[in-house]
Amino acid sequence: MEISETVVRVDPSFLQEVNQRSGQLIQLCYHCHKCTAGCPVAFAMDYGPDRVLRMIQFGLKEQVLGSSAIWICASCETCGTRCPNEIDIARIMDALRQITVEEGLPTKERNVLLFHKLFLSIVKRLGRMHEASLMALYMPLSRNLFSYIPIGVKMIVKGKIPLLPHRIKGSDEVKKIFERSG
Ligand code: SF4
Ligand code: SF4
Repeated sequence: MEISETVVRVDPSFLQEVNQRSGQLIQLCYHCHKCTAGCPVAFAMDYGPDRVLRMIQFGLKEQVLGSSAIWICASCETCGTRCPNEIDIARIMDALRQITVEEGLPTKERNVLLFHKLFLSIVKRLGRMHEASLMALYMPLSRNLFSYIPIGVKMIVKGKIPLLPHRIKGSDEVKKIFERSG
């Protein structure tokens, strides 16, 4: 019988790096699982948020940055409000996405980076999200022209997605935030 070996690389500086970026102290997590139990999208993740934190503690940088969990996280902050140690996991997920983008690493979820960049560019330009613009850009660039059209048309007809973006107060301030964060 052949025994296959998997090489697991450990990066001892990863915990410190994520702590610094997110402003959190991940060592405080004692894995009570309350965050994952309340996360509305944990069912779709490969690792729930408490497992992501455990892997960071162990320095498993490649596995964490290559996970789907960091992109599926919707930043709803439910986990942070449930955490007995007040760890802001949404900020940790943000930091993990930033590191992945900066280091040019591949993402597990197909086209997620494209979606992420388009989402932010629209918020930067308009000061808020405009779903019709997002889909108009995302569908051709992801070479997925037709699959979203039926649901998109239904939502437009029901008035869930405005065709034109609403103007908001403070869009210049939002632009400045983007410029400051570089
Ligand atoms: S709720 Fe807080 S302490 Fe509990 S597992 Fe999640 S991050 Fe760790
Ligand atoms: S912030 Fe992310 S990880 Fe936390 S509960 Fe919401 S979706 Fe889940």
